[in-house]
Amino acid sequence: AGELRFEDVRFAYTPERPILRGVSFTVPAGNTVAVVGPSGAGKSTLSRLIFRFYEPQSGRILIDGQDIAAVRQESLREAVGMVPQDTVLFNDTIGYNIRYGRPDASDAEVAEAARLAQIDNFIRSLPQGYDTQVGERGLKLSGGEKQRVAIARTILKSPRILVLDEATSALDSFTEREIQQALDKISEDRTTLVIAHRLSTIVNADEILVLDKGEIVERGAHAQLLARG
Ligand code: ADP
Ligand code: ADP
Repeated sequence: AGELRFEDVRFAYTPERPILRGVSFTVPAGNTVAVVGPSGAGKSTLSRLIFRFYEPQSGRILIDGQDIAAVRQESLREAVGMVPQDTVLFNDTIGYNIRYGRPDASDAEVAEAARLAQIDNFIRSLPQGYDTQVGERGLKLSGGEKQRVAIARTILKSPRILVLDEATSALDSFTEREIQQALDKISEDRTTLVIAHRLSTIVNADEILVLDKGEIVERGAHAQLLARG
């Protein structure tokens, strides 16, 4: 796991409209931070900056003390795992789908990633329909299950920091709970987690950052934030 640090990060897509207005926080290695706040607050933008999708106008983003602006894109992709919002699954087993991107992974590693993402019970199943060649019944995966395959695929790459941008996805409460359980497992495994989320239902984060109009307006553990109302 890696430490993530934002130092007075400012970002704008267009000069006249700042999106992040000096965001600073540190996520110690192995901790989970949830970035919550209303739609348009800048949560997705913040997530994408960690992946160096864009460069901040000023300020620095550091992973284990190293400014990501100075890191080769290739190394950054190893360090940061970004769970995509929408996942395309191949019509092959869930295990194959998890392994995609890291074909050298051992069966044990695939099984462990599946366990963490809580999809180990259907690792040998097919994502959809009926496979005439294998003669096996496939599964119709729900949105949440698909996302957990994406999570497993990302953690198989053993990133130092795992970023999950849920800010714009409209998940039902059952799916939310399934994904929350998977995230709890991953955080027990001491992966540094950054979760961007619309709602404040992320109870188990070590720290919750409340982002509003590009600024952190509140921060603390869930209980502290509740106490403050
Ligand atoms: P959140 O994830 O909190 O909903 P976003 O980071 O998606 O917020 O968006 C913050 C603001 O930046 C919004 O006003 C949005 O319209 C704007 N924005 C997001 N992406 C882009 C983009 N690619 N180009 C220009 N503006 C953008
Ligand atoms: P490669 O082509 O070297 O395999 P990819 O471009 O597929 O690399 O990306 C590697 C990782 O980066 C994947 O985990 C993928 O989910 C993530 N990634 C790539 N592009 C995006 C993007 N636009 N948004 C979010 N994640 C992305």
